[in-house]
Formats: sequence, C-alpha cells, structure tokens
Amino acid sequence: MRLTSLPLFAVLLAGCASTPGADSSAAIPVDLIVYGDHVLTMAEVGLIPDGAVAIDDGRIVAVDRATTINRKYRAARTIAGDNKVVLPGLVNGHTHAAMSLLRGIADDLALIDWLENYIFPAEVALVDADFVRVGTELACWEMIRGGTTAFVDMYYFPESVARAVEQCGLRAVIAPTVIDQRSPDASDGVQSLEVARQFAEQWQGRNPRITPCVGAHAIYSLPQQALERVRDVAAEYGTPVCIHLSESNYEVQFARDNYQSSSTELLEKIGLFDNHVIGAHVVWPSDTDIATLARQQAGVIHNPTSNMKIASGVAPIPAMLAAGVPVGLGTDGAASNNDLDMWEEIRLAAFLHKVSQMDPTVLPAMTVLEMATWRGADAIGLGGEIGRLKAGMAADLIQVDLDDLTLFPVYDIASHLAYVTDEHDVTTVIVEGRVLMQDREVLTIDESRLRREAAGFAGRIRDRLFPQ
Ligand SMILES: [Zn+2]
Repeated sequence: MRLTSLPLFAVLLAGCASTPGADSSAAIPVDLIVYGDHVLTMAEVGLIPDGAVAIDDGRIVAVDRATTINRKYRAARTIAGDNKVVLPGLVNGHTHAAMSLLRGIADDLALIDWLENYIFPAEVALVDADFVRVGTELACWEMIRGGTTAFVDMYYFPESVARAVEQCGLRAVIAPTVIDQRSPDASDGVQSLEVARQFAEQWQGRNPRITPCVGAHAIYSLPQQALERVRDVAAEYGTPVCIHLSESNYEVQFARDNYQSSSTELLEKIGLFDNHVIGAHVVWPSDTDIATLARQQAGVIHNPTSNMKIASGVAPIPAMLAAGVPVGLGTDGAASNNDLDMWEEIRLAAFLHKVSQMDPTVLPAMTVLEMATWRGADAIGLGGEIGRLKAGMAADLIQVDLDDLTLFPVYDIASHLAYVTDEHDVTTVIVEGRVLMQDREVLTIDESRLRREAAGFAGRIRDRLFPQ
C-alpha cells in the first residue's frame, strides 16, 4: 500500500505546485482565486480573456487578467479555468422552492383553477415545517446544480426555508406568504402576517446571505386592509415586499371590479412602494403602470415558462426595460414550470419576446443574461451586493464548462450562454467565497439523504392525492 501511494502523493504535490497563481513572491494573500479562459464580468469592463477573480473573506478583491492577478495575489486555494467561462451567479427572482415536492401534481390548468382546486388544498393537507425543509433542500440542490446563487422564495414555514438556505450556502430573499385564507402555517390572514412579522424580527441582520421579506400573495387573495398591514410590517423592519402582480386577466378584472383601478395603482395608492417591491410576473400592466413601476424602481420578475405553461400571457418586458424598470428572471415554483433551470428562462425569455413581437432583434443574448444577473439583482434589491463581478461585491460566481461537444465551436460567449448552455454545463458554484459545487458535485447537501427524505414525502403525497 505504501509503495503504491507514494507516487500518487508525488503527483498530487506536483499538481499543487503547478496550480495557476502559486506565485510565492506575490504580496497579498487571499482565500481563493478562480480562473476562466473567459471572465464575463457583467460590469463595465465586459469580457476579460484569460481572466481571474481574487476572493477574500467572501468578497471579490479584484477581477483582471490572470497574469495581473497572479502577480498581485497569493491564494490559499485556486480553481482552474481551462475552457471555462466565469460569470456572476444567476439570480432566480421568483420561486416557491418547497413546491419542488409537488412537481407534476397538476398540469395543464388555468391559474385560478390550478390554485384553488389543486395547489391550495394540497398544500393545506400536506405542507408542514418538515415538508418545507426537505422541499426547499431539493430545490436548493437543483438551483446549485444549475448555477443559481441567489433566489427569492415565497412560501410557508420560513424558518425551515432559512435553515435549509443557511446549510446549503445559497443566498436568499425569504418571504413568508401572507394570504387571507387558511394556509399551511396560519389559520387566516392575520396569523399569516404575524408569521411574516416574527420572521422579519428574528432574521433581519442575522445572516448576510438571508434577507427577510414579506410575501403578499396577490391583490385578489388579500383585502386592502391586509395589504396595508403588509406595508406597515415591511416598513417597520425595513424588508422588501414581494407580490404576484398583474399575473392574469382574472386579477386585472378583479382589480377593476373591486378597486376601479389596476393592481399597481392600488399598491401605489396605499403607499406599498415606500418599501422595495418585487413584483412577480407583471404580465398585464398598463402603460401608466409601467411608468409607475419605473418611477418607483419596483423590481419586476419575468417568469416566461410559467406564463406560457399557465397561459397567463406575454409580459411587456421590452417596454418595461425601455422604461427603466429593473427586470429580472424567475422560474416560479416547480409545480408551474416544472423545473428550476434558469438557463431555460434565459432562452425562453429571448424567444418568447422575439416571436410575440415578430422581431428577432428584441431581447438580444446579452440583455437576457443581464436579466439573469445584475438586472435581477437590482430587481430584488441586492444590486449593490451581487450580479456583477467587480471588486467589493460579494463573491457569488459560477464557472460554465465549454468542453462539451454540444458547445463546440465557440465564437461568441454571450450567444453560447444565452442559447446553448444548460444546467449540466455548470461546473462550479461559489457563494460568498464558499464553494458549494465543484466538478459538478454539490458539496453542501447530502444527495443520498435528501433523495431518501424526498422519497418519503413523495410516497405520502401520492397516497393522499392519487390513492390506488
Ligand atoms: Zn409565484
């Protein structure tokens, strides 16, 4: 044993000595240097060939040519970048993570039928704190696997979501759902707001990766008075508010019938935009609404797959971008998508708007990549922290492999990332300087334990919803 292990040890030592960046004369020690044949910063400097990102204490210290980084910094650890693109981690601006356990329970239905006759009853019957813990972990595994580094979650049992996020290392804006009906973690709207208030109180400032938020379900599932309480709780704790906004024709008609206005006009009237608002979907805003969203700098999260699958409509994304609204992308939950692959949202966003406007110049590759990174970060209120690779930002970044023959040949990096790449091409995921996935292996979630626990829930869900 000893004889055979010695040469291997020698090889490993030689490998360490030859890692890029191992320049013992370099002055500044850093935790990590990540290399890439291409570093797509999504910041002013654009694309850096043969680049590198120096990271220390969870922050980006420098982004530059590898030769420059190697001269200035000495890293405790390096990740090689041969035939790889380094870019900011993807921002999934709207999802319901734990619904991954409900993937495929009810498809091919209209939104209100789907919600009221399938999703809400199934959730009240099945969802508890442990369901949310396991479902969120399942979603986090999928998001890490696909290169998502931050997500906005709107669900129940926020403590379970926060624990899962803490452990797996992702970044999240976590919104307990406030809704005026019996829900999995509350008997009515008042109690659901109290869940959100307590979560904000306990988690505000507790973990830099976790931002508490208040999740107002929608204007048709909460009376005006409850929306005003949401506004007050968010203001009290300085949290953002996320809300399903102008998602369907049903909602547009509901707002007209009950408020003689649009959803956005109602939210502005009650002062909800005094908080940072993250509006999900926003399929049916009027021109006035778009101007309001731009003036208020409210974030809009576009969910092309969910909007297409539920046939909610085509959101006027090019008009919102032109008006200056911060627009990001989201997958929505796995029960209405039915996966959490942000590369698919990137591609479908581009294609959906090209075909609906009969104009292939609409939403070019770089614009949809911006929506998945810095525009999304701006939309969720974290634009000062994530979404761009530059000194001072949080070290949330990914490596995408260009080795696979499906990506050959490469002429234009942005084109490949927008139109070819999928979740299986992501090799490395780093959040706040911590490596969550390397060589396509998720390091922070025990996959076999998760599979076992998820299978247990799937059995119970099957028995309840699809009894033999
Ligand atoms: Zn949603």
